[in-house]
Amino acid sequence: MTTSDAYVIVGASLAGARAAGALREEGFTGPLVLLGTENELPYERPPLSKDYLMGKAELETAHVHPREWYAEHDVDLRLGVTVAALDPDAREVSLDDGTRVGYARLLLTTGSSPRRLPIPGADLDGVHYLRTVTDSNAIRAVIDRANRIAVIGAGWIGLEVTAAARIAGVEVTVLEMADLPLLRVLGREVAQVFADLHAEHDVDLRFGVAITEITGSDGKADGVRLADGTHVEADAVVVGVGITPNVELASAAGLRVENGIVTDAGLRTSAPDVYAAGDVANAFHPLVGRHIRVEHWANARHQPVAAAKSMLGQDVAYDRVPYFYTDQYDLGMEYSGYVEPGGYHEVVFRGDVPGREFIAFWLDAEGRVLAGMNVNIWDVNEQIAALVRSGTPVDKAALADPSVPLDSLAS
Ligand SMILES: Cc1cc2nc3c(=O)[nH]c(=O)nc-3n(C[C@H](O)[C@H](O)[C@H](O)COP(=O)(O)OP(=O)(O)OC[C@H]3O[C@@H](n4cnc5c(N)ncnc54)[C@H](O)[C@@H]3O)c2cc1C
Repeated sequence: MTTSDAYVIVGASLAGARAAGALREEGFTGPLVLLGTENELPYERPPLSKDYLMGKAELETAHVHPREWYAEHDVDLRLGVTVAALDPDAREVSLDDGTRVGYARLLLTTGSSPRRLPIPGADLDGVHYLRTVTDSNAIRAVIDRANRIAVIGAGWIGLEVTAAARIAGVEVTVLEMADLPLLRVLGREVAQVFADLHAEHDVDLRFGVAITEITGSDGKADGVRLADGTHVEADAVVVGVGITPNVELASAAGLRVENGIVTDAGLRTSAPDVYAAGDVANAFHPLVGRHIRVEHWANARHQPVAAAKSMLGQDVAYDRVPYFYTDQYDLGMEYSGYVEPGGYHEVVFRGDVPGREFIAFWLDAEGRVLAGMNVNIWDVNEQIAALVRSGTPVDKAALADPSVPLDSLAS
């Protein structure tokens, strides 16, 4: 067994870089190693399907810390290295080049990867997934030269790429197996808002479709075949059908893994001195009352701070109200709360839904606010989070009435 006083972080993206920052801010002065597969400085991914994809922002603006920050804070940042194995008994990780790194405490922020389509043609050139800056560059090149693309999956990534492509004048066909976009996440009432938004931007939306094949010629994708025999022609295909957490390392090391690496509210895994945070963590959430895995930016930003404190022996329970956002065309929204697919009783709207300036609230059968989504209305998400956190039934008429201040409703 090696003895090391190093704190080691595996996964050098938003969660990993935030944890490194928090460890230093919280006063950790020992050796700190941040290991990551990608060659890029740790960066935030949301711009990859928005401003960066549209050529409106430079990658530097997405870096979690500037290049010099790592040396200034004595963080041993090693990029382009993959951790191949974790040995919790020996308290060390092995890199793909054979190097071993011992740890006193280890944080796993290995994130997630796009789910691959298990159909013929999925490996053709011109079939794109979006997770990394390299992927975003490739899709940007497609948008620059394609006349039409097909987007498989009407989730957040698919819809954001669709918006970017439409803004650039590219024709887009969206292929989705459900009846509406984002149906599982938002439910029918609010999913319709996104269907209408994209229909208004002349997106060819096809719902309730099954895909059998990506077709190609000379090794390059040229369309998508549907189960009813229809062929949708496309110069390229973008696939956004969800992600899976990168748990291989943890599984092989015998850590408890179920829909991500299972942790308690203090982000401790089942192995001593091993923690997890960000997309990969299925953490117990005291407010929700069970384990949840949140695949969003705000979680990857804040949860590692709690993990860092926990690693330093502080008594923390990460219980922030989950939050995410999207920007598509001129629609910007923020969502605060947590609702299981279909796990709500009704939706109450406040404001102008057709004009896309409103707040939607998801309520349970007792009238408690489970989540709220502000669309093109700003500086209200803390009030919405307070309503979610209060856990008490609200007056629905008052909730729907924009003249009633939101902060008068949380008790
Ligand atoms: C295009 C795009 C747009 C998004 N837009 C939004 C948005 O608008 N709003 C929102 O709320 N969320 C958004 N998200 C989600 C958000 O970006 C993620 O929740 C966030 O990136 C998770 O951060 P993470 O650090 O936990 O994991 P990741 O970002 O997945 O990073 C994990 C890192 O670990 C590395 N790694 C994995 N295994 C190993 C290993 N064995 N050894 C070394 N390194 C390893 C990976 O290479 C990767 O760099 C978006 C995501 C994408 C891809």
